[in-house]
Amino acid sequence: MNKRVLVVDDDAALLGTVHELLAARDVEHVAVSSHDDFLTALATLDPTHVVLDPAVPGLDGIEIIQHLATRHSGAALIITSNLEARLLDAVKRAAAGKGLRVISVTSKPVTPETLAALLESTKDVSRAAPTLLPEAKPVMETTLRAGIEQKRFHFVYQPKISCSTGRLAGFEALARWYADDGVLQPLEFIPAAERLGLMRSITQQLLGEGLRWMASNHRDSDIVLCTNLSNSTLSDAEFPEFLALLCKAFDISPTRIVLELTETATMRDPTAALEMVTRLRLKGFHAAIDDVGTGYSSLSQLVRLPFSELKVDKTFVRRLSVSSECRTIVEAFIQLGHRLGLIVIAEGVEDEETMKYLASKDCDFAQGYYIARPMTAENAASWHHADGA
Ligand code: C2E
Ligand code: CA
Ligand code: CA
Repeated sequence: MNKRVLVVDDDAALLGTVHELLAARDVEHVAVSSHDDFLTALATLDPTHVVLDPAVPGLDGIEIIQHLATRHSGAALIITSNLEARLLDAVKRAAAGKGLRVISVTSKPVTPETLAALLESTKDVSRAAPTLLPEAKPVMETTLRAGIEQKRFHFVYQPKISCSTGRLAGFEALARWYADDGVLQPLEFIPAAERLGLMRSITQQLLGEGLRWMASNHRDSDIVLCTNLSNSTLSDAEFPEFLALLCKAFDISPTRIVLELTETATMRDPTAALEMVTRLRLKGFHAAIDDVGTGYSSLSQLVRLPFSELKVDKTFVRRLSVSSECRTIVEAFIQLGHRLGLIVIAEGVEDEETMKYLASKDCDFAQGYYIARPMTAENAASWHHADGA
């Protein structure tokens, strides 16, 4: 790629580093430290990379971002500054919110090695790696029905471990559809299945498989299985009894099953949620409030429902190591959960630093790519053995 680098900074050290590096590589580059010069350079250079210190005196970093956005600049943005992390994070979010491609947020000084690596990098820190396809393909009723008939829905299993000991505590079962043309993620078929009234069949198939898996791999242990309740199941009065019978059939105690209900679903129909959670708990099951922090539940509503666990949403957990705001939010949820007598789980743990932070804040359990990605039944069963837990 033919690179053209625009540097918005007046820091002599950084300009020196950039010039040394880029001149040696014959990369076209311009440094500016005034608004007018920036606009001129933006128009003439059409940069592929912009290195921006949003706190250059006399320049408004947010305005620079707005100009880049207005021009639909596809330039990779490297934000570097001595600003406090919180402010830098806000600048990054402002840029990402305008659709800019932020590839790095770094504090100064920037070494030539770092800068060289950044100019080669294609990663995009401003956009989360999508776990789901952005546009779900329309799912046809006939294919969905055929999928059910052919038993094409299966769980993958993702372990959760104790933050203090690292010991395996359980698995979350996540649905996948093994269709003819590939594996479909839950958000690609669950909404359609709900709409078509087919979710009950799918849930029954999946849970039957999940309990069979528990019975074959974790019969005599205290490993738990966590599973997600869909919106339609929330108001299915027969569901608690169905699950109780299934547990009996596989000789698995209901105390080893955790039903996860999202905060949003709970708040959409608080009455149904209250009834469902209460009935499940009365039958001995555990219930977790999922995706905490993404909905708009008030504390008083949260407290009213007899949940036993609280799952802090991954949007906060994933960004723990880079955002002090996220750390504050997660810590507050851990404390809140504990004060309400709930077990607290952090999902979306993607690195060691986050894991250590959670342990230091007495979070009970952790789940995320750092520990393991969701695995097929077979791999999850041997992950347990390989882990030695
Ligand atoms: P969820 O309950 O919040 O499940 C966690 C999701 O986060 C999973 O996505 C999992 O693969 C992903 N994840 C786990 N660790 C990490 C991480 O470290 N980083 C990131 N970025 N993501 C991580 P998945 O499997 O695509 O499931 C999406 C949602 O679909 C679930 O969100 C759940 O609400 C729903 N779902 C999954 N299985 C079922 C099911 O059997 N029934 C119902 N009703 N809903 C389900
Ligand atoms: Ca969940
Ligand atoms: Ca969740």
